[in-house]
Amino acid sequence: MKLPTVHFTEEQHKFRLAIREFLQKEQEKGTFQTKCDSWLSGCDPEFSKIIGSQGWIGLTWPKKYGGAERSALDRYILTEEFLAAGAPVAAHWIADRQTGPLLLRFGTESQKEFFLPKIIKGECYFAIGLSEPNSGSDLASVSTHAKKVDGGWIVNGSKTWTSNAHDAHYMITLIRTEPFDGSNKHKGLSQLIIDLHAEGVSITPIQYLTGKRHFNEVFFENVFVPDEMVVGELGQGWKQGLAELAFERSGPERILSTLPLLMELIEELKKQGNEQGLQEAAKLVSQLWSLRNMSIGVAKVLEEGGEVAIPAALVKSIGTKFEQSIPEITRLLIDCYPRLDAERKLDRLLAESILHSPGFTIRGGTSEILYGIVAKGVVAQ
Ligand SMILES: Cc1cc2nc3c(=O)[nH]c(=O)nc-3n(C[C@H](O)[C@H](O)[C@H](O)COP(=O)(O)OP(=O)(O)OC[C@H]3O[C@@H](n4cnc5c(N)ncnc54)[C@H](O)[C@@H]3O)c2cc1C
Repeated sequence: MKLPTVHFTEEQHKFRLAIREFLQKEQEKGTFQTKCDSWLSGCDPEFSKIIGSQGWIGLTWPKKYGGAERSALDRYILTEEFLAAGAPVAAHWIADRQTGPLLLRFGTESQKEFFLPKIIKGECYFAIGLSEPNSGSDLASVSTHAKKVDGGWIVNGSKTWTSNAHDAHYMITLIRTEPFDGSNKHKGLSQLIIDLHAEGVSITPIQYLTGKRHFNEVFFENVFVPDEMVVGELGQGWKQGLAELAFERSGPERILSTLPLLMELIEELKKQGNEQGLQEAAKLVSQLWSLRNMSIGVAKVLEEGGEVAIPAALVKSIGTKFEQSIPEITRLLIDCYPRLDAERKLDRLLAESILHSPGFTIRGGTSEILYGIVAKGVVAQ
């Protein structure tokens, strides 16, 4: 596996500092409080609108839809800074990371004109409708189905573990539009955009470990979806969905979900003059540096249109284990009393990390499934 080494330009360094300064000012104003796992759990539509007004959603997208046509590496810098600050960017994250790129690649002109400008303004949010009660890792076994009617489709079935469905406006769903013929499960699947406020859609919360609302069950009972909401080609949902996963698996959010805790740990160890502890923390920082270089290398290959399924699987599987190791090591290095309402920042971030981290190696494809992808790639070579 060869990934390119990337050197950021002076211009990009200035961009990073500008974002950092902006986030610091917003924090000082009290707009947000640093959180761990803020990219999927920090849902704040007002903050997303502020980010939209900065021109920082859809950063790489064409100007004709309101984007800034900047590079994937500029976007990488932006997302790194959001994660380091623990900013509440979850409301627009999915739309920015994967729905927009999916529509740009496979969507119709009218879908692009309708959705992209709203996403860019931070006013339109998407949820991911893949998992079902009987379909997780074996995703092609989805049974939510759509029947053709005049002008559209009637959808019945349900999705589960849907992060932030209660705050999203639409869901990109993987749905069976042709009955399973008993041979190829990947055939007959399509991607449909479902309006989550349409008649026949109901959304029920599933309690998260923190007690806060995060994911949901979403039920579809005779929901009408117009033909215009089919994304790409009918029956090509599996292939299109796989392309989307490359964007989902290798980003900085797969290594930085608990970075605010690591930064706070280092501050606390410095305050205490704990040299041995700092040496342990330095090991985490060096692992982070290697992972970051891999993740940036994947972003560069993606930008050039290259194939990244295997390195993306590696980044996600190693990166999420790394994110999980930060709370574990923190609690061994420092006297702590983790509580979500703790006064000391370290205790609060530690509590968030402990409660959120079990999901890191599950969401977006479990580690076992990713090892399978890597193993098959090794055999093929
Ligand atoms: C925090 C969080 C947020 C999520 N958000 C969303 C969302 O927004 N939208 C969405 O659609 N889904 C979401 N999910 C669901 C997630 O994608 C699934 O949980 C995941 O794909 C695993 O599916 P499953 O839970 O059905 O487990 P299963 O597939 O039943 O797996 C159970 C166990 O068996 C192992 N296993 C399964 N098959 C194999 C195999 N072939 N080889 C080796 N081991 C195997 C798995 O690794 C796992 O350990 C979220 C999950 C979490 C934790």
